[in-house]
Amino acid sequence: MDLDLSPQDQAFRDEVRRFLDTHLTEDLREAGAKTGGVFADFEAGRRWHRVLAGKGWSAPAWPKEHGGTGWSATERYIFSRECTAMDAPRIFSMGLRMVGPVIMKFGTPEQKAKYLPRIVSGDIVFCQGYSEPGSGSDLASLKTRAVRDGDDYVINGTKIWTTGAHVADHMFCLVRTAADGKPQDGISFVLIDSMKTPGLTVKPILTLAGDHEVNQVFFDNVRTPVANRIGPENAGWTVAKYLLEFERGGEAYTPNLHARLEDIRRIAREEAADGSGCLLADRSFAERLAEIEMDISALEMIEMQVLSDLSRGRNPGTVSSSMKIRGSETLQKLDHLGVEALGWYAAPFEPEARHLGHNAPTVAPAAGITAMPLYLNNRASTIYAGSNEIQRNIIAKAVLGL
Ligand SMILES: Cc1cc2nc3c(=O)[nH]c(=O)nc-3n(C[C@H](O)[C@H](O)[C@H](O)COP(=O)(O)OP(=O)(O)OC[C@H]3O[C@@H](n4cnc5c(N)ncnc54)[C@H](O)[C@@H]3O)c2cc1C
Repeated sequence: MDLDLSPQDQAFRDEVRRFLDTHLTEDLREAGAKTGGVFADFEAGRRWHRVLAGKGWSAPAWPKEHGGTGWSATERYIFSRECTAMDAPRIFSMGLRMVGPVIMKFGTPEQKAKYLPRIVSGDIVFCQGYSEPGSGSDLASLKTRAVRDGDDYVINGTKIWTTGAHVADHMFCLVRTAADGKPQDGISFVLIDSMKTPGLTVKPILTLAGDHEVNQVFFDNVRTPVANRIGPENAGWTVAKYLLEFERGGEAYTPNLHARLEDIRRIAREEAADGSGCLLADRSFAERLAEIEMDISALEMIEMQVLSDLSRGRNPGTVSSSMKIRGSETLQKLDHLGVEALGWYAAPFEPEARHLGHNAPTVAPAAGITAMPLYLNNRASTIYAGSNEIQRNIIAKAVLGL
């Protein structure tokens, strides 16, 4: 595969750089740089989403007819690389990345008109209600029940690990609409139009790093219109599986991995090795850094292929499982190296240093205040979006025929 940029691609990259120079303000860059988990500070991310929407660039993976950019795979990749390199905040993207493509494929014309433009503009923000206590890997065993009452479903049950349920205003959700037959055949996919719907309660779960990202959501006779169901009743499993392929393969991992690699290189240039000289000159550290860089380059090749398939309208298929495994494991290796590079400076617990506008002196150097939160929060990356063991099972079955 030829990864050299064509003159058109170079011109596109320069256009992106000019745009970022003028629109990515210092406070937005601060939010990007201080991200200690998957997503940047929610409000900063939303502001950035709206800036991008103003330029028509908020939905890089979407077709033009739905408000997307219609970019090629290479353009999307360039955009992502430039944004991460410049510390653009990572947007809370479950609408753009997950439910948007699902509505495009399975939604009615009314549903498309109602939701897609507002997802693109950043006016509505979705969270994902799939997992339940006892139903994570074994998702088809989910118990949250939806019973029809006139034009509504009445929902009872609970969802857990719901990222951003406290900041989102909409939720897409899997519910049980039939109890007999195969568990997969009794599930429906519904949308909830307000997280303030009566009967819906969001309770925080704090992560190891002390952050509030995930929640448990309780449903006590929560009503949502039948018109908010995506796809036929009891056909939610097909919809859910389609969405999961986008969750695992819809976004390139390597721009973020490249940016993290650069962060660690920067730290290693400044930190001393055990003997003398800087850590970057330490042979064993440099070798491990180089090894990870090779992993990233290999993953980049697969990603370019997948992005190219996506831009031709093909969904990623099982290759998204291998991307998820390699992307998350490489990220964890980088996090480990980041903490090791900082040594004792990774230890102080300074969560306030990651608040926007915080400018008091910190114990850790500026590049180090996110190292430990990233290390801790990203432990979850091999669990969420379908654990890596489950991804290996998918590959064993679908690719190797085992
Ligand atoms: C930080 C974070 C954010 C999340 N965000 C969301 C969200 O926004 N929305 C949402 O719906 N969910 C979310 N999740 C939930 C996530 O999808 C589940 O945690 C995940 O699917 C695993 O399910 P579980 O936690 O029930 O673990 P279990 O399914 O109980 O698994 C426990 C362990 O057993 C292994 N295991 C289970 N079954 C098998 C098998 N058949 N073969 C081999 N190994 C197996 C697993 O790999 C894992 O290591 C999030 C989770 C985390 C940690």
